[in-house]
Amino acid sequence: MGGRDATMVLLDENGIRCDGRKVDEPRRIMIRAGGLKNADGSAYIEFGDNKILVGVFGPRDVHPKHMSDTDTGILRVRYHMEPFSVGERKNPAPSRREIEISKVIKEALEPAVMLDKFPRTAVDVFIEVLQADGGTRCAALTAASVALADAGIPMRDMVAAIAAGKVADTVILDVNNEEDQAGQADMPIGYMPSLKKITLLQLDGVLTPEEYKKCVDVGVKGCELVYELQKKALHDKYFGKGDE
Ligand code: UDP
Repeated sequence: MGGRDATMVLLDENGIRCDGRKVDEPRRIMIRAGGLKNADGSAYIEFGDNKILVGVFGPRDVHPKHMSDTDTGILRVRYHMEPFSVGERKNPAPSRREIEISKVIKEALEPAVMLDKFPRTAVDVFIEVLQADGGTRCAALTAASVALADAGIPMRDMVAAIAAGKVADTVILDVNNEEDQAGQADMPIGYMPSLKKITLLQLDGVLTPEEYKKCVDVGVKGCELVYELQKKALHDKYFGKGDE
């Protein structure tokens, strides 16, 4: 954040971004429900150049038993980045960043999942980032919601996620890696479109109150687009492609 690469043109005179997109244009998003036969539910997402696989296991017994809760089920999330997922090899040891992202994704999913229906059990969500290009937490949260639905876990809604941000004093939708590094702000948003509730909102950078409101608006609209693709992925798996 804060103009680390001053030479990069993040927004040209025609309002076109460094990867050719307009300010309110998301990257190409492809979501597939299912795919892992040993998981209870799974999903694969390509969000621009991000490629992420999610496996869901459970509800299942909790070991050690004292970690379980007699009143409710628990959600456990592991976000993991492959060493080869980024340009400069990532140390395979769990990083503070991965621990933080695991926590925020868990907290963003919890309001959506009806854990009270499965006391004493755990639902495990394993997220593998195969390729990263900015916005992996949003892409992972989006895919995790589809994988939970694919596992048949009762949910109040799915969480759809995308980041809004600011480059060249302009609010943009879906921040890529260059924009994240050299831009002015990055605001990942997770949103349950049917319930109209935000479950994730982070902000890296500085915004005026007006820009803040605009980022939330733009982000929520982006989440609504992502939600349609989540539903389509589930529809394609269970009812077949093209059977609208
Ligand atoms: N990144 C990287 N090496 C790392 C961690 C992150 O190159 O060890 C890149 C990766 O492309 C990631 C981006 O930095 O998507 C932005 O990371 P951030 O922590 O903002 O999370 P994200 O935007 O992926 O949710």
